[in-house]
Formats: sequence, C-alpha cells, structure tokens
Amino acid sequence: LVSRKAHPENTIVDVNGQTIGDGQQYFIMGPCAVESYEQTRSVALAMKEKGLKLLRGGAFKPRTSPYDFQGLGLDGLKILREIADEFDMSVVSEIMTPADVELALDYVDVIQIGARNMQNFDLLKTVGKVNKPVLLKRGLAATISEFINAAEYIISRGNDQIILCERGIRTYERATRNTLDISAVPILKKETHLPVAVDVTHSTGRRDLLLPAAKAALAIGADVIMAEVHPDPAVALSDSLQQMNIPQFNEFMDEVRAFSKKL
Ligand code: PEP
Ligand code: MN
Repeated sequence: LVSRKAHPENTIVDVNGQTIGDGQQYFIMGPCAVESYEQTRSVALAMKEKGLKLLRGGAFKPRTSPYDFQGLGLDGLKILREIADEFDMSVVSEIMTPADVELALDYVDVIQIGARNMQNFDLLKTVGKVNKPVLLKRGLAATISEFINAAEYIISRGNDQIILCERGIRTYERATRNTLDISAVPILKKETHLPVAVDVTHSTGRRDLLLPAAKAALAIGADVIMAEVHPDPAVALSDSLQQMNIPQFNEFMDEVRAFSKKL
C-alpha cells in the first residue's frame, strides 16, 4: 500500500494545516528532550519568530543507558501541549509503547516512532489504527526495504498519514554519530508516495554538519528537515554535543532558507 505503483500521487500529511508532501519545505525543530517548561518554551518562542509550527521534544526518551535521563513522561507531553497551544504550534513527540498511544492522542499531533522501535510491530499496528499522523524513523541498522515494510504495517491498519524519516544508519565510520544515507531520500520518494524527512541532528551527531546536511537533504528532495535546539546545549540532559543554541538556530534557519530559494 505504500508503493508508488499502487498510489502514484504524493500523500499529503496534514498536521493542522501544515500540508507535508505538497512540495514545500517544512521544519520540525525543538529540544531533544523536554526538560522543563521554561527550556521548551524558550525554544518554541524562537521557532515562532521564524514562523515554524512543528515543535518536537522527547517526553519518553529511549536512552542507551538506563542510568541516563529517561524523560518527563506524561508531564513532558503536558508541557509540550501547553506551549504549542500558546503559540499555535503542533506537537511531535515519541511514544515508545502501544499502551501509551491512547494517552498520547490528547497531547500530540504527530506520534513519533523512534529508530529503536521501527520494528516494534505491536506499536506499528497500534498507531496504524489511530487517526493521527505518524513520523516513522528508520531503524539504527534497517535496510530501506525493512523501513518500507515498517510503514506498510501502519498503512495496512488504515492510517496513511505517515512521514518517513531518515536519521542515519550504523556503519564502520566514526567521524559522524551515524552515516546519513542521503540517497535513501530519492529512493523513498521514488518507491513510496509518502513524504520524507531528514533528521540532521541524529544522523550527523555534529553541530558543524547540521547546515551542510540540511542543504544536501533539501537539494535531494526531502520534504522535512528535523533538528534539535536547546537554550543551553552544554547543560542539556541528552544530546548536548549536537543541539543548536538559539543564535545558532536563527543563523541555521536564515542560511537554509536562503539556500532553498536557489533550488
Ligand atoms: C529523537 O528524535 O528524539 C530520537 C531519539 O531519535 P532516534 O530515534 O532517531 O534515535
Ligand atoms: Mn536527541
């Protein structure tokens, strides 16, 4: 069902009027994790000033170590909802378990499925049955075919509001956190009718590469760029090396917009 052969026209994922897949470029930005109301609000305010509407933030964090910050959970979702309502924005946030999907419907506008859960088939089936857009991230070591099959799990239950997100894959290369598989973008656009996002933060893991990676992603046809922003990355409870601070975010937005005008 996700195949372009079955459905030649682009699917548009409508997030409160942001029609992702319509040929324009969208940005999903926000902190790695919701740490507090003030922290999240300051990022949202900077985004509002740039006209951005899609606010991300992790409330349930899939951390490699069980001793690392695990997120604020439901309190984090409440913070995101309150701030998004204040600024007329939409909330994108990861849900890790089928049991939390029902609860999340009241707070999030886009359910994010993280890389570590790309093949959590119960979770895929559960989000396939709800009336809410899904941002599906590529697994840490998933092939494009496995990624497409994961989307098929969702659409086969009835939900076609899916954004595919390339977020880097694991290779032998250690200069970047993951290896951004840039060619996945045109392949996914060709083989499926779904919009494609590129997460420049988790793929590169390097602040100095966010802008060139975003330009490459837009040039090759990505519909959405995702990146993380924190008011003070040095003290962030997760991903402190790669989040942009607010002046860096402002510069990033100006440069990426100047670039995309040339495309
Ligand atoms: C995230 O976007 O918050 C995240 C944890 O990313 P990933 O699942 O791609 O590692
Ligand atoms: Mn992160």
